[in-house]
Parts: sequence; structure tokens; C-alpha cells
Amino acid sequence: MTRRRRIYEGKAKILFEGPEPGTLVQYFKDDATAFNAQKKGTITGKGVLNNRISEYLMMKLGEIGIPTHFVRRLNMREQLIREVEIIPIEVVVRNVAAGSLTKRFGIPEGTQLPRSIVEYYYKSDELGDPMVSEEHITAFGWAAPQDLDDMLALALRVNDYLSGLFLGIGLRLVDFKVEFGRLWENEEMRIVLADEISPDNCRLWDVKTNEKLDKDRFRQDLGNVAEAYQEVARRLGILPEAGPGDHAAPKLVQ
Ligand code: UDP
Repeated sequence: MTRRRRIYEGKAKILFEGPEPGTLVQYFKDDATAFNAQKKGTITGKGVLNNRISEYLMMKLGEIGIPTHFVRRLNMREQLIREVEIIPIEVVVRNVAAGSLTKRFGIPEGTQLPRSIVEYYYKSDELGDPMVSEEHITAFGWAAPQDLDDMLALALRVNDYLSGLFLGIGLRLVDFKVEFGRLWENEEMRIVLADEISPDNCRLWDVKTNEKLDKDRFRQDLGNVAEAYQEVARRLGILPEAGPGDHAAPKLVQ
């Protein structure tokens, strides 16, 4: 891990200089944090699972025409990505009430929302990621109105696609967070999906039992955190048993 220049270290990932200009290597750690890093821990094997799950989901999203920063997985914990300028906004899409939404509005956890709700949070550890409106985002210049339009449209497409994909393997996509970046190609700028998509930033509940198979197991001390992430990978058909580089189809749950 000393062979490359470290560009950035976050809570769950490290970014290294990539092999070519315009590329980075994204390394997935086992570290977990919650509640604005007030709760810290390690989930053994999480990095390996998230690397694999995020690879799979980014690849599938790429196949339906969602532009992403993902290039290819390099090994158990690393993937090659395009270097982008991260837009400092977390886009949260919610289908079912959970987490901060239940607290903010007093809606019971598990309530199906009348339609998908999109929220924006300003990425700032010091400020604790405050919720912001489109007005704040454009007025403070974090993203241009056109960027925001693209982010919203992409986030909703991601939601529709992933909701269906997870439902097919018996999981309800309750909510998730995505991040976007700006990618320049010649003179053109494109908004692309960045960061990761994994049980660290999605809420996934078993359709039949409502069992939580995501980071809430860590946040709420429910135990078997790594096992839950592994179950998500297993249902997606991407556990190592499937063979290296093998993208076995997800198992349809009747
Ligand atoms: N989320 C995330 N990073 C954050 C905050 C939220 O990935 O810094 C994800 C979280 O896992 C959930 C969704 O965004 O899937 C909505 O989270 P919420 O606003 O309910 O906050 P939480 O209760 O997770 O703090």
C-alpha cells in the first residue's frame, strides 16, 4: 500500500494515484463509522464485500446507460476509477421511511412513502452534513442548475433500476445515498455517478421478514453485520464461490 501516492483518505475508503493520468485507485477499508463519526468500528471483510457489490452495481448501471466513474475491479479491495471532481452534495433517495426521516417528521419506520423523495445534504464533517435545498446548492455554487437537473434525473433512474434489481432477489431498497462528480472529456463536462453503492449507503430489508441487511446492523448494534453484507452479495450471485470474475445472474426469489 506504500507503492502509490495517497490522494485522499475517507472513513471507509482510500484514494490512491492511478496508473494513468485521470485515473485513481479506490481502496475499500473495513472501517465503519456512523452518526457523523461519533460511532467507530471495524467490520471484518466489509471492504472486500463492498468492493465487489459496488463493482457489480456500477457495472449494471453502466449497462443501462448511467455514466459512472467505475472502470474495473483490480483485486479484492481495490478498483480503478476515473478521477472526477466530486460535487459536495449527498443525494438521498427514499422509498420507505427510515433513519433521519422518521425522526424529522415522526413517521413510523417502514411506512411506504407516497412517492420517492429526493433530499440533498451538503458534505461537511464539521457541519454534520446539513440538509440543503436546491436554492442553497445553486446560490452557493456547489452545483449549477443544469448539474442538479442531471443529478436528480440520474438518481431517480438509479432508484428505479436498483429497486427492481433488489426486489428480484427479495430485498426492498428502502433508501440510499449517491454522490456525483464532474468528468471532463476534451471540452465537454459530464456528470457521472461516483463514490460507491453498497450496504454502507443503502438500506436493504428482506421483503418477507423485514430483516435489515445493511449498515443499520452496525448503527443499531444488531450484530452479524458482515454476514448481512455477505447475504446481499450472495443473493446478487457474486460471492467468490461463483468463480473469480464470474458475474452469475442474481438468484430470483419467488
Ligand atoms: N447515508 C449515507 N451517508 C451519510 C448519510 C446517509 O450513506 O452520510 C445513507 C444511509 O445509509 C441511508 C440513506 O443515506 O441509506 C438515508 O440516510 P438518513 O438520512 O436516514 O441518515 P442516517 O439515519 O443513516 O444517519
